[in-house]
Amino acid sequence: MKNEDAPQKLQFDGRSLINGKRVHAVSGEAFDCISPVDGRLLTTVARCGEADVNAAVAAARDAFEDRRWCGLAPAQRKRIMIRFADLLLAHGDELALTETLDMGKPVKYARAVDVNSAANCIRWYGEAVDKIYDEIAPTASTALALITRGPVGVVGVIVPWNYPMIMASWKIAPALAAGNSVVLKPSEKSPLTALRMADLALEAGIPPGVFNVVTGYGPEAGSPLALHMDVDCIAFTGSTRVGKQIHVMAGQSNLKRAWTELGGKSPNIVFADCPNLDKAVEAAVGSIFFNQGESCNAPSRLFVEESIKEQFLEKALKLVPAYAPGNPLDKATIMGAIVDQTQMNTVLRYIESGMSEGARLLAGGEQALQETGGYYVQPTIFDGVRNDMTIAREEIFGPVLSVLSFTDASDVVRQSNQSVYGLQAAVWTRDINKAHGVARALRAGTVHVNQYDEDDITVPFGGFRQSGIGRDKSLHAFDKYTETKTTWIRIDSPV
Ligand code: NAD
Repeated sequence: MKNEDAPQKLQFDGRSLINGKRVHAVSGEAFDCISPVDGRLLTTVARCGEADVNAAVAAARDAFEDRRWCGLAPAQRKRIMIRFADLLLAHGDELALTETLDMGKPVKYARAVDVNSAANCIRWYGEAVDKIYDEIAPTASTALALITRGPVGVVGVIVPWNYPMIMASWKIAPALAAGNSVVLKPSEKSPLTALRMADLALEAGIPPGVFNVVTGYGPEAGSPLALHMDVDCIAFTGSTRVGKQIHVMAGQSNLKRAWTELGGKSPNIVFADCPNLDKAVEAAVGSIFFNQGESCNAPSRLFVEESIKEQFLEKALKLVPAYAPGNPLDKATIMGAIVDQTQMNTVLRYIESGMSEGARLLAGGEQALQETGGYYVQPTIFDGVRNDMTIAREEIFGPVLSVLSFTDASDVVRQSNQSVYGLQAAVWTRDINKAHGVARALRAGTVHVNQYDEDDITVPFGGFRQSGIGRDKSLHAFDKYTETKTTWIRIDSPV
């Protein structure tokens, strides 16, 4: 798929994948999959409902009970997971192009970030699974207590549209590696790569029924999965609003384990003694505009110490033109399209609210590239934002940076923690005491010091407060998809 008309040549199959087969929705219904790049119809996608979810869960349950996957030795599952990761890379260009057409991110990043990270995640959990040992408890010598871990059973996975492959892989990789069967519901706004991932998992040797994908809308296909009496665990990434409903649905049904990775409004704190102001400016601007601002961990509240704010903003504004939205299929583009018209309108409404609540618009503020038929928003910066303004409190999920100021460390910690969220944060200072003290006081799952872009599959990812419950990535993620069992064995020792 290297030639220029590759996008036109791509063929999409929008049927769901249940028990190893591509199938239409039981109702026969399908919905249009529109590209935000230019508004073109890519394909139609199965509009699954309860009947389809029931079929997928039944297939996953059968696969789990007959042990066709969980019964394999960890080393065997490892080999198949690694083959799966290799196949993702072998189809990397096709997957990247599909992701770009489906949700609008620049193809350059879809290939270098999304495809590579998803493949790396699947490989990493595959490689990990035959290196984890169980435990023997230090009990009295009259008994042996084995503490073992086993798969939970059938895992439902519901993911959003901002990093479709990565979000899916953070959940399906540890869940599958641990021996579970999975039913994945991708976002209705970006369903295509999840379906291709499931095709490739089958090709790699993951048995039919072990990894199923049901496509469709949240209330129609997501809710039946979260409410299902035969799903043992539901792993959700998405908005805090829906995340709360997921916990309710888990409680209303079979008390399935519910894990939620939700929204954020991350503070990025720059002290006047920042060791490298240019780097801090680049990170502040680059991280909020990366992925069109559609990142849960985007540093959307920038706190700059009053004495350097003017200088900081002057430098920041010089970088903004480079983020002007462009054609996501062009490899030079670094900011692409917003996922759909609804989300674009939400972002534009937040921009209006910033202006009406008295924030000062420094850059952007408008829709762009209307002539393409796609959905684009200019990179936008507001100064003079107060923490009680809507644009400082609510997650915009678009390329909008709110700039606030502060006087000292305790002031900025107080303001930063004044949020319902607690996903990430950053602090820039050359003072090691300040760095540690502020990092410790911030209520966030991850705190960066003097950078914002470090990331690795080896570290946990998740939030405090209403940013969710549980952690993706790292060996900690296995906790979500395994049950701990204690087996007591009596020892009547002859010696
Ligand atoms: P969303 O909550 O609208 O949708 C997420 C998923 O839930 C989609 O698949 C959707 O179809 C499904 N869904 C919607 N209503 C449902 C219902 N009633 N029952 C079951 N499922 C339902 O979120 P979104 O707009 O797709 O994604 C953006 C959100 O995701 C942002 O808040 C962002 O911060 C968050 N996010 C968080 C992380 C993280 O790791 N913390 C990562 C990425 C995105």
